[in-house]
Amino acid sequence: MAGQGNAMDMSETGICYLVGAGPGDPGLVTLRARECVEAADVIIYDALSSPEILRWAKPGAELVFVGKRARNHAMPQDEINALIVRETEAGRKVVRLKGGDPMVFGRGGEEAAELAAAGVAFEIVPGISSAIGGPAYAGIPVTHRDHCSQLTLFTGHEDPTKEESSIDYAQIARAPGTKVFLMGVARLREIAAALVDGGAAPETPIALVRWATTGRQRTIQGTLDDIADIAEQADFRSPAVAVIGGVVGERERINWFESRPLFGRQVVVTRTRAQAGVLSRALSDLGAGVIELPTIRIEPPEDRQSFAEMVTHAHEYDWLVFSSPNGVERFFDAFFAVYGDARSLGNPRIAVIGEGTAKKVREYRFEVDLVPEKFVAEGLVEAFKGESVENLTMLWVRAEEARDVIFDGLAALGAIVDECIAYRTVAETGDPTGAAERFRDEGADLVTFTSSSTVEHFFALGLPWPEGCGAASIGPITSAALRKHGVEPVLEADQHDIPGLVEAIRGHFAGDS
Ligand code: SAH
Repeated sequence: MAGQGNAMDMSETGICYLVGAGPGDPGLVTLRARECVEAADVIIYDALSSPEILRWAKPGAELVFVGKRARNHAMPQDEINALIVRETEAGRKVVRLKGGDPMVFGRGGEEAAELAAAGVAFEIVPGISSAIGGPAYAGIPVTHRDHCSQLTLFTGHEDPTKEESSIDYAQIARAPGTKVFLMGVARLREIAAALVDGGAAPETPIALVRWATTGRQRTIQGTLDDIADIAEQADFRSPAVAVIGGVVGERERINWFESRPLFGRQVVVTRTRAQAGVLSRALSDLGAGVIELPTIRIEPPEDRQSFAEMVTHAHEYDWLVFSSPNGVERFFDAFFAVYGDARSLGNPRIAVIGEGTAKKVREYRFEVDLVPEKFVAEGLVEAFKGESVENLTMLWVRAEEARDVIFDGLAALGAIVDECIAYRTVAETGDPTGAAERFRDEGADLVTFTSSSTVEHFFALGLPWPEGCGAASIGPITSAALRKHGVEPVLEADQHDIPGLVEAIRGHFAGDS
């Protein structure tokens, strides 16, 4: 590799990774890209179709946005070059993150040359280019044995009517096979005309895919002759990838992504950044566009000392009661920080609220003895009525801000309950992915709430509620919190956990359309 220079010990010296972030769907990045993002001290990034990738950054990593955003100009290229060189020379692990593939109309080559000239170490991590991945998500293979054996890729950035255009449109028009161009929406009319002038058949099929591979994907289709009018009527804008040729016809048969049940719907996920992933993934697997707008964060309890002491004494209880997956995680992390042997937990029985909480307990290889049918505190108290708990000791592992139902209910049954405060929920103040701005600009069809604290903290942000947007609630307590803010949920999950919520959302939109 040219850029390694005389670097001997890579852990001591800086390195710059030129990383492709893929076309948008966060699943479409390489394993290497994820490793680099996780290890980075500083991430210098452009406008990405899905900034969710940034959530993989380690805590404390510096995130520097250098792209173009609504009202801001991008940082000039020479300043970006100077910045990546300077940060790398300072001994840091630098990730230069770019949409698609860094070497496809991404100036990755220029940045690599700068790094090479400065004699610092660098690595190129290719990504999936929108030029190929974009059409695939619209059901268009860029090559196909029935249609072509050649692919031409060009930029639509240059004005074809200008003398000095470096693109020979007549030559492109004459070239057999598929043509793909990026950055061409603004000049679509001129490009199509130049190709027809150059000898391409006016009826040649063309499709444009906007925000490809994300929940906001939209595709228009026509011929070289009418595509500019179609785009105008549809108010079709960048960023889009255009694909020209017989392959466009394949879309009729293999348009897989746009036929998913939640395709075209924008859904907001308000849970903690750490927990958002499972819900986001399930929603985007159904085709939804997801904005992760975490409103809360989980922090250690105010009184860490007494939490640690209670965990240490957990083996003395007859029952351990967990009311959330967070509590389970905090409890066992603290437990195994003290004890190296699982048997130190002794033999208390374990009760939980919700399948999600049960699943978490099983992750630590402990079995659950009691899961109430109803996934709420009242359900747990109800379930204990079938047990004889009088004078039995219970350790209830809870959040600082929990309701009193469990304590009062179990005490009323004669149990001796100690409360072990394992964590507290605080407002998430950071927004490294610009999610609040996206929510403001683009709106949404649905905002999901997975606890009453997500409701409280969401409304504390003071964001305007988009017109026609619904609220989705995981259960009755969350719904009650929403009503307190004057919002009647459009749906409430029958089963009060994430799979239950996803199912309810699917049903909601199925009934809707
Ligand atoms: N390096 C990038 C291209 C950067 S140029 C890549 O390999 O994809 C920016 C152009 O890429 C946009 O104007 C648009 O034409 C295209 N593009 C990037 N992401 C896109 C997406 N998700 N959907 C459609 N087009 C996209």
